[in-house]
Amino acid sequence: MSGPTGTARRSGTATAARVADAAKVYGSGDAAVHALDGVSVGFPAGRFTAIMGPSGSGKSTLMHCAAGLDTLSSGSAWIGDTDLGSLTDRQLTLLRRERIGFVFQSFNLVPTLTVAENITLPADLAGRRHDTEWVDALIDVVGLRDRLLHRPSELSGGQQQRVAVARALAGRPEVVFADEPTGNLDSRAGGEVLDLLGRAVHAMGRTVVMVTHDPVAAAHADEVVFLADGRLVDTMTAPTAAGVLDRMKAFDGRGADLSPAVPAAPTGRTGGEPS
Ligand code: ADP
Repeated sequence: MSGPTGTARRSGTATAARVADAAKVYGSGDAAVHALDGVSVGFPAGRFTAIMGPSGSGKSTLMHCAAGLDTLSSGSAWIGDTDLGSLTDRQLTLLRRERIGFVFQSFNLVPTLTVAENITLPADLAGRRHDTEWVDALIDVVGLRDRLLHRPSELSGGQQQRVAVARALAGRPEVVFADEPTGNLDSRAGGEVLDLLGRAVHAMGRTVVMVTHDPVAAAHADEVVFLADGRLVDTMTAPTAAGVLDRMKAFDGRGADLSPAVPAAPTGRTGGEPS
């Protein structure tokens, strides 16, 4: 992980998105919920990062605040060198449209548009010309060439999510945020979507940040950051599903103790297992 102060940038790895001392409080007084409680984390460009943690740990809140869909109560959120807190609502809308791609659990395709129209919708809405070569290549990568004139209701869930991934990548955003992208899919279709996100990073040079509670999904990432009770409690490079699961169990077992004192993995098993 790159540090929140941009140390990775100085050493040559750009940070696509980051938050520093991020806090988010919902409600007030006795009813206040500290969804984020002082999180500092950077998401490196050209990498696939998973945000992992139990339900209610703050994963979606972190993603939404990092992506400018929600605002922090305190601290700062950056996309590249842009401090989201310094932007007007209009500037934030433009930044989301032009610099970020989104993939949601529920696909969020427009039912009346064809696959092809859904993929180019963000560019159409922004009045931008498409990079036709890039979009054409994307259609092959997501395997939807023979479905371009179909409507979303004529596709399987996995195909719909692959359209959503293509839509998110169509404008070559600086970063794609995916919120539980396999949450509505069976394991085979989910695996295809995760492979696709991995290919977007490793073959197409994109940056993906994915929220998930599923160790198998997290194992597709290059790095995993772990949240518990609104705090960043650990990170893991080259994760495996078994390794992520072990780490999650360790957090569960420690209750309120959030110091990163995770029991060491058995010898010779640092990320080397097949997932
Ligand atoms: P996760 O994505 O890890 O499941 P969330 O970020 O959705 O966690 O939620 C973190 C905490 O913030 C939870 O306790 C949740 O109930 C609370 N929370 C999230 N959104 C709201 C909201 N709009 N109003 C009040 N509490 C919220």
